[in-house]
Amino acid sequence: MKTDLHTPMMRQYLGIKAQHTDKLVFYRMGDFYELFFEDAERAARLLDITLTQRGTSAGQPIKMAGVPYHAADQYLARLVKLGESVAICEQIGDPATSKGPVERKVVRIITPGTLTDAALLEAHRESILLALTLYRGTIGLAWLNLAAGDLRVLETLPENLANELERLRPAELLLPESFPKQFRPANNAITCRQLPDWQFDFDRAVSQLTRHFGTRDLNAFGCEQLHPAMQAAGALLQYIHLTQHTADGEDGGSAPSHVRTLQVEKSENYLRMDAATRRNLELTTTLSGENAPTLLSALDTCATSMGSRLLHHWLHHPLRDITILKKRLATVSALFNSADSPYYPVIQEKFKQLTDIERITSRIALKTARPRDLSGLRDSLCILPAVTEYLAAGKVDAIARFAEALTAETALTELLIQSLQPVPAVVIREGGVIATGYDAELDELRALDENCGQFLLALEARERERTGIATLKVEYNRVHGFYIEVTHANSEKIPPDYRRKQTLKNVERYITSELQDYEHKALTAREQALAREKFLYDMLLTQLEVYIPSLQRIAKNIAELDVLCAFAERACLSGYREPDFTPYPIINIEAGRHPVVENQVLQYIANDSLLGAVTRTGRKMLIITGPNMGGKSTYMRQTALIVLLAHCGSFVPAKYAQIGPIDQIFTRIGASDDLAGGRSTFMVEMTEAANILRNATEQSLVLVDEIGRGTSTFDGLALAFAIARHLLTRNGSYTLFATHYFELTHLIEEFQQAANFHFTAVEHKQRIVFLHQIQEGPASQSYGLHVAALAGVPASVIRSARKILTKLEQEASNRNPQKSLFDDIEKNNNPPPPHPLLTYCRQLNPDHLSPKEALEQLYLIKSILERKE
Ligand code: ADP
Repeated sequence: MKTDLHTPMMRQYLGIKAQHTDKLVFYRMGDFYELFFEDAERAARLLDITLTQRGTSAGQPIKMAGVPYHAADQYLARLVKLGESVAICEQIGDPATSKGPVERKVVRIITPGTLTDAALLEAHRESILLALTLYRGTIGLAWLNLAAGDLRVLETLPENLANELERLRPAELLLPESFPKQFRPANNAITCRQLPDWQFDFDRAVSQLTRHFGTRDLNAFGCEQLHPAMQAAGALLQYIHLTQHTADGEDGGSAPSHVRTLQVEKSENYLRMDAATRRNLELTTTLSGENAPTLLSALDTCATSMGSRLLHHWLHHPLRDITILKKRLATVSALFNSADSPYYPVIQEKFKQLTDIERITSRIALKTARPRDLSGLRDSLCILPAVTEYLAAGKVDAIARFAEALTAETALTELLIQSLQPVPAVVIREGGVIATGYDAELDELRALDENCGQFLLALEARERERTGIATLKVEYNRVHGFYIEVTHANSEKIPPDYRRKQTLKNVERYITSELQDYEHKALTAREQALAREKFLYDMLLTQLEVYIPSLQRIAKNIAELDVLCAFAERACLSGYREPDFTPYPIINIEAGRHPVVENQVLQYIANDSLLGAVTRTGRKMLIITGPNMGGKSTYMRQTALIVLLAHCGSFVPAKYAQIGPIDQIFTRIGASDDLAGGRSTFMVEMTEAANILRNATEQSLVLVDEIGRGTSTFDGLALAFAIARHLLTRNGSYTLFATHYFELTHLIEEFQQAANFHFTAVEHKQRIVFLHQIQEGPASQSYGLHVAALAGVPASVIRSARKILTKLEQEASNRNPQKSLFDDIEKNNNPPPPHPLLTYCRQLNPDHLSPKEALEQLYLIKSILERKE
């Protein structure tokens, strides 16, 4: 076939494509969605489908690629995963009556951040759309989980943006065109969309939001003081209207009515973690980007995907509100501590039968719910009464509180039972969705269609009796429709109301007005039945709208109870204990375990962590030394994970855990080049360290695992020293400081707040065995010699090394450089005359270091250098 740009169809296509230049246009042609030009090339590459051609444009073939209509979902899912957006253009007009190309229209826009379709969404992950803007030095964030109807806003400083992006992990990002380059995310995995600046206009945003929520102003949401966050929320809502609209133009379409409120987030409500910490603790993805083994994978025994998603959210949003946490803990405790058998397995068993009520509710609101969504919802609602009865029966408050929260209106369940077939068809256009008995008109139409044969037999019997013609037949054929057939011999018995329709050789065919009416009805019945079903289905979706708030409540509570059951299961099967929150500044963990590593080793060695109000001065730092593979990282992470789990409302892997107020967790772990961000290992290390030194408070938990390794030994050591001292003297945070710089173990001589701990290994049958048991005091320095010997290094070399080591140790203890240096400075209040280095140091740090401090640092570094030399 020859087609060029001037055919009406191509003109129609180009008109539509011009409005969706940044998306792939799926253009419906018969049983296929076709893509043209660059779209075709792109799709062929991304989906590995055949690139063909159709006609020419300016002498060149027009590239074309297509996907079958019935398999479109799987292709869409792949495209969306790759960050693509797609405009679905359907045939609207009737091909039979159209002159020229059938009328087509974009009926759906699919973008990575606005998914609600079950086939396109990952069941266990939220899909977030985030809008950002900058106003007078403050970043406004607004983000929406459309599949749950959850809209939130936050304002923050530009330097926190990277952390927020890591926390929210948006699938799609909306930015004003003028958004400064330096604040744009470096992560290429996020689909970024630039919108014109006017879409972020403040007044426009406020009117957009008030119109959406049907309120006069936005005071009820507590966002009177917010400016850029509101701008972002307005642009975001506008974008949703645009992508979700079906037919009514820009501001029309199906408003996301399930987005019923706007929550203002305050970062102080959460135990804060920066981007590096979330990654390092491997909360929901491993450092290598896998889904397991992670904290989430160790805990997620949720029975529903609503629960799994909430657990994912909780792990990234540990709370600081002890009242809420205690409530969660009380439920966990009640779920497995019952006198008879624990509650949680029974609840989980019942929950396994539930469908994704949260997402179905959103699809009801967006009018995209499919018949099986609604039948699934109905079946789930039918299961819930048994659950609520079970929850209420035990009369345990912590559990019974969910009984009411999971109760659905009877009218809703009834409506779904009455309106839907037990197993409805997959799509409404094929019919077979609405139940018999729900609508008299539909029943009649269906009866006409289905009972045609019976009607004809009944009519035949009646007419035979009326006319006395025993051979009279009532029949149907496709060409002539319905007729009464009588042989010529019986013609005189024909009643007057028979009208002749056709004369054949031996027989005469007639029609009556009753039969004609029936014919009309029967021939159009199927079509009408389908149309009626579609109408009733749309009505049903509208009727369900009033139940959206209660469905959201039910979904939210199922998710919460499901997570708490998973916590209870873990507590029960892995011996977790309830953490004890205290107002005193302490972290006291007895026999703590790493929740993930303990599943990977044959025997896990539990260890204590004790920080805070332990000594008179308050122990604020454990300097942890010991061999590689000794268990240092595991130990530090386990401490952080136990603190984090407690703040999610979970029991913790420890015999006992007493936890005082904690505001943030920081980690500086591992050394990996951030090649995508263009930063070397050392730069990453120092950026993370700088962030900790600037932001950690007395209530922060800080893990430092090897600092300074990314540079030459001396300045690395000097930096490690200075950082440790800063943490002790300025930040005063609870710090676990693992290091291979043995010199740092001398810090305890200067600071009572520091203590030495170590891990060791022993030699057993010519093998090194790591004990993984933390012990007081510094590690032995000769460990490396053991390993070298075991590795087969000649005995003469080992002997020589041992001599050198002894000499070095003696020299070090004679000089004891830190002690003497500070003694000198303390005794001598007048520091020595400025050294040229001091002047230099002051220039470097004019605000931060007093002369005395600068001098201390310099002498320290100098003495270390001398000692090494
Ligand atoms: P380091 O940080 O000292 O090099 P790691 O913490 O990475 O050592 O531990 C190395 C390995 O030792 C871990 O992967 C784990 O298999 C095992 N391990 C660590 N701590 C324990 C423990 N407490 N009990 C049992 N095995 C442990």
